[in-house]
Amino acid sequence: MTRSGIQVTHDIRDRFFALLESLSALRSLANLGQGVESEADLAYQALVQLVKHQNLAFCSIFFLEDDLLRCVAGTGFDEEHAKLSGQVQVSLAPDKSMHFSMDEGVIGLACQTGQLQYCRDCSTDERFKPFDYPAQQSVPGSLVVVPLQFGGEMMGVLNVSHPVPENFEPWQQHMLSLYGSVLAQMLHSYRLMNSLDTLVKQRTQQLQEALSESEAMREQYKRLSMIDGLTGLFNRRYFFPEAESQLSRSIRYEQPFSLLLLDIDFFKQINDRWGHQVGDNVLKSIASELQRISRQGDVVARLGGEEFIVVLPNTDIDGADQIAERIQAQVAQLEFEREGPKGITLCIGMTSLNDRSINHMELSRCVDILCKEADMAMYECKRRGRNQRLVFDENEICLLGSSIGP
Ligand code: GH3
Ligand code: MG
Ligand code: MG
Repeated sequence: MTRSGIQVTHDIRDRFFALLESLSALRSLANLGQGVESEADLAYQALVQLVKHQNLAFCSIFFLEDDLLRCVAGTGFDEEHAKLSGQVQVSLAPDKSMHFSMDEGVIGLACQTGQLQYCRDCSTDERFKPFDYPAQQSVPGSLVVVPLQFGGEMMGVLNVSHPVPENFEPWQQHMLSLYGSVLAQMLHSYRLMNSLDTLVKQRTQQLQEALSESEAMREQYKRLSMIDGLTGLFNRRYFFPEAESQLSRSIRYEQPFSLLLLDIDFFKQINDRWGHQVGDNVLKSIASELQRISRQGDVVARLGGEEFIVVLPNTDIDGADQIAERIQAQVAQLEFEREGPKGITLCIGMTSLNDRSINHMELSRCVDILCKEADMAMYECKRRGRNQRLVFDENEICLLGSSIGP
């Protein structure tokens, strides 16, 4: 083989290896997928693969952002390290100041036309505009700018330069164009996935907010369904289960447990004389007295009309009687505007837990019995002339007057 023949064979062999390297770069790019943390990281990793497999001087990637092409990653930012290692060093762009507008330089042209731009000799090509960045001001020999676009969307450019003019042969340009296409597609998928991810996160958050809102509303409705609208006390729906749970606690810890049933005397007359509104005010005022006098753990409820009930855990009948007396005294002192009712009296029937109530009895039945006992005591108060409080006594089958009214 002649000397020039040998040269041609070497050239073909070099190109063959360069082509293989190019394919390796493409394969490595396509395999990036999973480990990418951000768009800038994708650009960075794409360049790392490119310089690994190609004999390049400089390369960089610019993303299109608000009509400006901003450099996100490239070589030449870390010259010290490159010198020490003797390798081309890819880094993320140290700041966002390195940018071109759409009508600047070869970069802008590639972006505007969507076509690959090739500067055969940057020193003479008028389209070429050097980077306005201290570390990158040396003018390259030749430069290829590949637009990064996918599905009609322009995303940025890939720049690859070489110190020697006329360096890039058509097949290399073609390969870089292919590289740019794959990268653009990956960037598009990354953005799509990210926007889907953001959408899913937004929707999840909205859903969680809606759920906690509906949970709060459910709680609110539940609370409202247990509360008497006029007085703000618990209603009978709440009272019975709550009384049962307090009773069960008292039984378990062998604590006393008492119950008061209160009925306003001659309430109809209050309504008739002062009107329904004043009657309502009387109910509200008595309710707040009951709340004020009751302690933590007591259950105060409006059973209906002008009838109230108070459960007193950890309170024996003497303690219950003291509380009942205090209630009567406070209610008697209530005054209402414009010569409203005064000296309002109550009948209070009282009872407390003892062995008879708990003998293998269901809690609900036990509460029912205690309520009935208190009710009987209360009606005995009415019968005896009102303004009374009486304790139910099973042994007498009738009722014992424990005290007189205030
Ligand atoms: P007694 O001394 O025997 O208990 O007589 P009373 O008038 O208190 O009892 P009665 O059962 O005869 O009347 C109760 C009245 O309470 C009748 C009813 O119109 C009135 N009432 C019931 N609920 C309300 C309410 O929410 N607001 C008002 N203002 N009155 C109510
Ligand atoms: Mg009544
Ligand atoms: Mg009454």
